[in-house]
Amino acid sequence: MLEPPDAESRRAIEPVICYPSELLAPPDLDAYRAAFANYRKTDEVRVPPRDAATFRVPRGGVFRISSIEGPQVGDLNLWNADDVGERFYSGKTRALHGTHVSVGDRLWSNLPQLRPMATIIEDTLAWYGADEFGGRVHDVIGTRCDPYTGRLLSGDDYHHCCHSNLTRALADALGISLDESEPYVHDVMNVFMCTGFSREKGAYFMKASPVRPGDHIDFLAEIDLLGALSACPGGDCSATHSSDEAACFPLLVEVFEGDPPEGWHSADRNAYDRSHGR
Ligand SMILES: [Zn+2]
Repeated sequence: MLEPPDAESRRAIEPVICYPSELLAPPDLDAYRAAFANYRKTDEVRVPPRDAATFRVPRGGVFRISSIEGPQVGDLNLWNADDVGERFYSGKTRALHGTHVSVGDRLWSNLPQLRPMATIIEDTLAWYGADEFGGRVHDVIGTRCDPYTGRLLSGDDYHHCCHSNLTRALADALGISLDESEPYVHDVMNVFMCTGFSREKGAYFMKASPVRPGDHIDFLAEIDLLGALSACPGGDCSATHSSDEAACFPLLVEVFEGDPPEGWHSADRNAYDRSHGR
């Protein structure tokens, strides 16, 4: 392939961070954790393997996702409990916090609300960091396994992909049809999943999750939330997904409530005036 004479010098230009995260007002994690220490458990939901379940968390509450019986990754969707048109926006969350999220990072909602929906206050896998392959845990780069891509790649119909699991769970939670619920299912946070991009081709890869029973990740709800979690048919995602082949385990979601952190208030909608230059 022909290169321009200054190809090397063009490549050598230093990158700049698109969205310096220090410009975001950081959450007061000490206050969040101090408040959570006095919360009590108000609900729990067990997510069966290769299926999904929904849960509700009032603003200021905390939800914990735990591995309980074996290494298992989960595909998480979040909606504003009062308006499912407002939902988790993985693309902007990735732009703001990076490809993988952990303590102190927030899950942001779509435009025009663009506000924090949840803040990660604890993550027992935070020690993992980055491995020699560039793999990290809890990505906001994957989309969710879905039967359409499965059809495209294998020609088979597999109905227990995370997309279908989330579609059924949301339909049941809202009392609506599958056709009505499917458009609200969105790109996920891949809880406990270990992923990255290959150095050579930038190909999206997954590898066996380091999660073990007892590991958990805790989120404080910044607004009233309806959540759905799918226990991915890929199990620990060490080999395959979109089939019944992988060993799969349940996940546990627990909800805790109490007096919210001192000085905390529920996240406001984005303050942009929406005049778009007119
Ligand atoms: Zn999946």
